[in-house]
Amino acid sequence: MKKPFKGNKSFLPSKICEHCQREMSWRKSWAKNWDEVKYCSQACRAAGPGTPRRAA
Ligand SMILES: [Zn+2]
Repeated sequence: MKKPFKGNKSFLPSKICEHCQREMSWRKSWAKNWDEVKYCSQACRAAGPGTPRRAA
């Protein structure tokens, strides 16, 4: 797991969607609840955690 590098003022946080494992870039609408954002879209949120392809 990479740790976010702090100190770059142009750095925008990003997260990995817990469902589709895609990186999602920071959105202004997420500023309020960034810590709670886990999914890139409502569809992924509804589907919940899990990968579309089996890891094992
Ligand atoms: Zn997703």
